[in-house]
Amino acid sequence: MSDAIKKVCVIGAGTMGAGIAAQVANAGVPVLLLDIVRDQNDRNAVATGAVAKMLKTEPAPFMSKAAAKLVEVGNIEDDLAKVADCDWIVEAIIERLDLKQSLYEKLEAVRKPGTAVSSNTSTIPLGHLIEGRSDAFKSDFLITHFFNPPRYMRLLEIVAGPESDAALVKRVSDFADRQMGKTIVNAKDTPGFIANRVGTFWIQAALNAAFELGLTVEEADAIAGKPMGVPKTGVFGLVDLVGIDLMPHLQQSLTSTLPQDDPYQAIAELPPLIGKMIEGGYTGRKGKGGFYRIN
Ligand code: NAD
Repeated sequence: MSDAIKKVCVIGAGTMGAGIAAQVANAGVPVLLLDIVRDQNDRNAVATGAVAKMLKTEPAPFMSKAAAKLVEVGNIEDDLAKVADCDWIVEAIIERLDLKQSLYEKLEAVRKPGTAVSSNTSTIPLGHLIEGRSDAFKSDFLITHFFNPPRYMRLLEIVAGPESDAALVKRVSDFADRQMGKTIVNAKDTPGFIANRVGTFWIQAALNAAFELGLTVEEADAIAGKPMGVPKTGVFGLVDLVGIDLMPHLQQSLTSTLPQDDPYQAIAELPPLIGKMIEGGYTGRKGKGGFYRIN
């Protein structure tokens, strides 16, 4: 295949997928944005809604109107075959191994060989993601772990497996560096990689401590904010940004992949309030609000 990445497909138009697609489009590169069908009368509603959100001007648009013209929206039932035109497919669906694996199985049949496929997983080791896939798929697969929000967070963790094609990994890495302005950190294929191995631990420890000590959200974030180096959000604000519904998936993924004697296991249990909030649709900024209200 040619060395250039001329078209990208992002699968999953949620918090991360929409942000990644917006950044690719802002770089002047066409992007196909796919999600599931949630509304039979408007089969592309999820991706269409995500694009509209990226164009909102408050607090600042994530994508220019010109860039939005480069985004083609669709859904995985009707449009998956269109990935054949893409040079890089970024999977940014829910953090569940079974759903990611089932999507990759479908992608095997429709992508052209040599198309890079990467996962935006926060925690799942690459070796687990590609279990059962063909040698060709394994060679074209890597992890590209973007940070939230993709527009502002420069860091990109890249994980390549022993079977990943080095030239293909370099192609994706160069694109992310030169066209998306990312700072690349190459991480090993371990649960949570680098940032979430550390990050998930401290977020959960801080949440648990706040509940145990009976702190208010404001008190906890006054401490976890500027004094502890998370100035814009603090810990509860960060969880609202990340998505409260993601927390149990991160917990499940890390408890099942880390050794039983890992210190994470001792703090892995989430406060029961988290489950109640998710049930009520209080998933943070992407939902009805979370620990903080949204307008
Ligand atoms: P999200 O829940 O906001 O969005 C996920 C989207 O994927 C939803 O729109 C959902 O409808 C869609 N989806 C689910 N199954 C699908 C399928 N089979 N095909 C197509 N679309 C499907 O989730 P998110 O926070 O954007 O997380 C996506 C991935 O990025 C996860 O692996 C997560 O761990 C990772 N991640 C999240 C953050 C964060 O701060 N939220 C940061 C870095 C990485």
